[in-house]
Amino acid sequence: MIPTKGYAAASAKAAVAPYDFTRREPGPHDVLIDIRFCGVCHSDIHQSRDEWGGSIFPMVPGHEIVGVVAKTGGQVTKFRPGDRVGVGCFVDSCRRCHYCTQGLEQYCAETATQTYNALERDGKTPTLGGYSDKIVVDENYVLRIPENLPLDGAAPLLCAGITLYSPLRHWNAGPGKKVAIVGLGGLGHMGVKLAHAFGAEVTVISQSMRKEAEARRMGADHFYASSDAATFAKLAGHFDLVINTVSAEIDWNQYLSLVKVDGSMVVVGVPEHQVPIAAFSLIAKRRSLSGSMIGGIPETQEMLDFCAKHGIVSDIEITPIQKINEAYERILRSDVRYRFVIDMATLTG
Ligand code: NAP
Ligand code: ZN
Ligand code: ZN
Repeated sequence: MIPTKGYAAASAKAAVAPYDFTRREPGPHDVLIDIRFCGVCHSDIHQSRDEWGGSIFPMVPGHEIVGVVAKTGGQVTKFRPGDRVGVGCFVDSCRRCHYCTQGLEQYCAETATQTYNALERDGKTPTLGGYSDKIVVDENYVLRIPENLPLDGAAPLLCAGITLYSPLRHWNAGPGKKVAIVGLGGLGHMGVKLAHAFGAEVTVISQSMRKEAEARRMGADHFYASSDAATFAKLAGHFDLVINTVSAEIDWNQYLSLVKVDGSMVVVGVPEHQVPIAAFSLIAKRRSLSGSMIGGIPETQEMLDFCAKHGIVSDIEITPIQKINEAYERILRSDVRYRFVIDMATLTG
């Protein structure tokens, strides 16, 4: 077993605190990764506070992992020691079902193995995530970080980046399409950069106007505050695609009213409680309400390569791991520009 240092939540009420544990020795198909940086996703907060139910403790959160390969198993062919690599939201899946064989592992019929807060495929070993100095992952679930991307700014691409890339691609965001990004947080700011790079006309809808200048620098063409009632009147029936990244319960009917005939609102934010929808919000303009969850391994690699080509990384604020609980509080206040990334060197001193 490999001694590993990390940070964990001992229960839903506990702060995230130092936690030592072990990783398995790399098997023939495994890669041992020295973690350099890990992004802090709002899902880390939802899960470590058990807001979605069923959380497994102690929980080592973290699924925006980047690092360097330290060792490879005897049959690994894709990676070598020294390679710059990443791990996202899942570390395994059934590999046989209709979805896995199409590279849609996130929708695995037998459920993909989440990077933390899940059990390995043996059904009993808890998975522990990236707030730690090492991780062991099967090579088929490891991504390659292109050479021209900085490791720290690339970390959030592994969840926030792919979570926006996949629906923007699936719903054909591009030239001539009007796309709204609701919520300018970790996910939302990646949505602005990616939709702009795809050539869409990008509008941000944020709670206030205070992030406007930064959003425009990221590529937003328009910026509106949801706190201003005139926003909803002005933008009624305007968008081909609305991507809702908000982590809290908001009135989805209000945002559906912004979608034009045959357009879609795609929900990627996961509030704790259910949100009611009126039939009229959908039927009036033959609108669709959809959801989307991260992306599969091939699409995640495609996204990383796209970001390398277009020079896209996340806007980050580096934090020492000792300040993770403060980072959580600031995320909850929407006070992050725009993703915290833990420098894992601070873990070992
Ligand atoms: P985040 O950085 O906290 O961003 C969320 C943004 O939503 C905030 O910055 C804020 O933007 C807006 N917001 C927050 N509270 C709000 C409220 N009460 N009313 C209106 N707007 C509010 O979080 P994130 O990491 O981007 O994650 C967002 C959500 O997506 C979380 O629920 C997370 O669990 C989920 N998620 C889903 C997937 C997936 O695969 N579908 C993947 C990752 C994360 P403004 O300041 O601009 O208003
Ligand atoms: Zn995430
Ligand atoms: Zn499967």
